[in-house]
Amino acid sequence: MAKNEEDPAIFFVEGKSPILYNYAALYWTVVETDNQIRPEDFTVVYGSKIAEKDWDESITTSGTVHPLSETRNGGFLAPFHAILDGKPRDTFAISISGPEGVILRSVTLILAHHFGEIKTQAAKNESTHLLTDSVGVNTVGISALSARPAIISRASWWGSLPSGELNSPRWPPSYKNITHALIHHTGSAPHNDQPTPAVAADWVRSIWRWHATSTSGGHNWGDIGYNFIVDRFGNIYHGRHNPQLDASPPQDVIGAHAGVFNAGTMGVSFLGLFDAGLPSSAALSSAEQLLAWRFRLRGLDPLGQAIINNRLLFRIAGHRDTGAATVCPGDHITRYLPTMRNNVALRMR
Ligand SMILES: [Zn+2]
Repeated sequence: MAKNEEDPAIFFVEGKSPILYNYAALYWTVVETDNQIRPEDFTVVYGSKIAEKDWDESITTSGTVHPLSETRNGGFLAPFHAILDGKPRDTFAISISGPEGVILRSVTLILAHHFGEIKTQAAKNESTHLLTDSVGVNTVGISALSARPAIISRASWWGSLPSGELNSPRWPPSYKNITHALIHHTGSAPHNDQPTPAVAADWVRSIWRWHATSTSGGHNWGDIGYNFIVDRFGNIYHGRHNPQLDASPPQDVIGAHAGVFNAGTMGVSFLGLFDAGLPSSAALSSAEQLLAWRFRLRGLDPLGQAIINNRLLFRIAGHRDTGAATVCPGDHITRYLPTMRNNVALRMR
């Protein structure tokens, strides 16, 4: 397989490390196919920073690397980060691009804090040496990435909406455990029109008004219909009122996002109109962590399919897959769904 500059991202992860690190590497294995897959078929794009800093500040480092030319134990190893300025980082964003059709079996992110001298030559063998012989090596398994993500509570995004409606008195919650997730986009304006998280929160409140009230021809359901909304910055908003979201055991509230498919499905909506491209990496990563967390709670296979309402649907499906007369969530997100399922599965391992 030849390296193609337009190879799609087949894995993306962004997060905060439990340790300060000054060395990082990514190791992955793939499901075997008839085609020989070579290290140079993959590209790793990475970013690394201190949590409190913005991505564009000078302390950030980023770059593009290919895996080492020899595969390791049948997998691929890409040492992408050995910080040479003496300032450890704690936050990472990494994507792997590769040939179409490649399915990742496992991904391990290795983060290490070397207390000794860091060799400045990034020769291939030297990188491996650093990995195996250094002191203070910590590893972070990808499974940690299915933890409950931060979710902006309704009280936090409510703003000046009517305070008496916060707990949805006109539409009391009813519950059904999810078997599927349905992916939406909210439509309206392109997501790039969200210059700041404050503007994104404004959009969420507008959707609440449209769903909950009759203003300007709204649905007057008494609450917002989506269970969760994800903005361009990766912020996750708690949508439809669910006082049992984190109860023990937790319950899934029935929303209003897909007609007869509302019961038993988790409606996750990307904030924006995606007719011209994918949501941001931050948004996709947050949505995948949200799905991994909830699917783990319910013991659901993110790669699987199951019948709901006499229809066989992927457990992570797009709104249009229900047969509804809609293009939601748009062509770009629809084409991304196999990758999303794969990423959620990787996070749950
Ligand atoms: Zn939809």
